[in-house]
Order: sequence, then C-alpha cells, then structure tokens
Amino acid sequence: MTSIVFFCLFIFGLAIGSFLNVLIFRYSPEGRFFNIKDILGRSHCMSCRKTLEAKELIPLFSFLFLRGRCSSCGERISLQYPIVEFLSGGIFVLIPLFLNSFFGIRSVLFFSLLAPGWYYLFILLWILIFLSLLLIFVIDLKHYIIPDGLNIFIFVSGVALTLLFAFNETHILPFRESFLRNYTLVFSPFQNVFYNHLLGFFGGGLFFLFLFFISKGKGMGMGDVKLAFALGMVLGWPDIVLVSMIAFILGGIWAAILYFSKKKTMRDKLPFAPFFVIASVITIFFGFNLIKGYFLLFNL
Ligand SMILES: [Zn+2]
Repeated sequence: MTSIVFFCLFIFGLAIGSFLNVLIFRYSPEGRFFNIKDILGRSHCMSCRKTLEAKELIPLFSFLFLRGRCSSCGERISLQYPIVEFLSGGIFVLIPLFLNSFFGIRSVLFFSLLAPGWYYLFILLWILIFLSLLLIFVIDLKHYIIPDGLNIFIFVSGVALTLLFAFNETHILPFRESFLRNYTLVFSPFQNVFYNHLLGFFGGGLFFLFLFFISKGKGMGMGDVKLAFALGMVLGWPDIVLVSMIAFILGGIWAAILYFSKKKTMRDKLPFAPFFVIASVITIFFGFNLIKGYFLLFNL
C-alpha cells in the first residue's frame, strides 16, 4: 500500500518538477516576479524552436528516451531538465518520510490519511518550501538574482508553519520546535516556538542586512538578505545560526577553489543563495547529529 503511494508521490513530483523547469527557463531577470504570460504557452526546443510533442514532454523519461538530444535538430538538451525533475520527485517522497520520523508520526497512519488534519497542511507547506528553495538554487546560479515572489512565499509559509506549530504544540514530541532538538536549551533564550521563529527572523535577517551594509552590497545582494529573513522565519532560532555558519563555510571553500584554480578573481560575483539552500538542507537533515558530534569532540 505505502509503496504505491510513494510511487504516485514520486510521479506527481516529477510532473511538478517539469513545471518548475518551465518557470526557470521562462523567468526573465528584469522582472522580480514570474510573469503568467511567459509561463503559459507550449514548450519548444531552446535551439531550433520546434514545438515539443506530447511524447517529448514526459518528465525524466523523455530525456532518457531522447538520450539527452532534441529529436529534430540533435542539439543537447540541458541537464537541468532531468535533474530538477528528479529532485522535485525526491522532495515529494523524502520530506514526508523524514518529517514523519522526526515528529514521531507513524508513516502507515500518515499514508492512510489517519494523521491529524493540520499535520498534512504542515507537510504540504514544507514540500512547497523545499520546491521554492530548489527554484532559488537554480535561478540564482543562472541569473544571480532571487525572485522576490519566492522570498515572500517562503516567509509567508514560515509564518503559517510557526502558527500551526504553536497551536498544536501539545500534540508534538518534546524538543521538536528546532531541528537541533534538545540543543535549543543551550542556544536559545526561549523554549517557545513562536518566540524562537520571531528571533530567527530578526536575528538571521538583521545579521545579513548588517553584512550587506558594511560590504556596501559587494559581498552579497539584497535578495540574499531577504532570503535570510525568510529562512529565519521558517527555521527559527538557533537553526538559522547553524545555516548561516555552514553557508559561509561552503561559500568560502567554493570561492577559494575558484580563486586558486584562477577561474575567478575576488571581484567576480558569486551567487550566495545556493550555499544558503545546501546549508538549510544539511541543518534540517543532519543538524542535530552535527551538533551532537561537535559536543562529543569535547566530551560534553
Ligand atoms: Zn531542436
């Protein structure tokens, strides 16, 4: 039973991923939001403009059948298509599984639709947040910009998540208001989900706003600052601190690799959002174990 549900979720995720690809390819960096007119309309080959047939529009499988080339002009199809589709499919399967185990909800109950109603909304919000982060990752990599619409969407989802959590706190296992679990006792002044997320919003956001002003906008863009506010709302305190630290470490390593391989100079732009996204994923999935390992190093 559950394996059928997983299969359907994955296929549905692939289809959503193919829609995300359309959003990415038709996003014009001049506009700060997505334009509905650009999004509608049939897909065509980026090289010869041939309108794609139905059999060329099947997520993931079309790319495999066509061996990564356009059936008309033979031009290579961007690897972005299958990668984004696959990741989107993965999000629809992995997020419910991971969060069920994190919140102690039995997956059998979840997939039989027997979990509490608010919990389904909670999972849906998390899936939408991960899809937005996937979009931000690719768009910032391509255009060095984060669409305002996505930052606003993540922020609003963060507010909704926090409220859902706050109103149902008694039904949730202890120490689940942070992905760092009981280590919030060490790092956070509050044991209250509402204050933690408010502190994450102001703490994470204002810190990056401060960096933006002292670097006069050279270190990072305003989009990164807005993303820091939004992620702070979603992840709360102290999670946003760990996300920022991991993002700086990864970004620093990447910049050093590029610098020493002479591919870029220090003055070149480096998109920061992808590091933010990777750091968030690491914190959500492995944050607790990272901190635990860190304390074990010092026998604490
Ligand atoms: Zn073509």
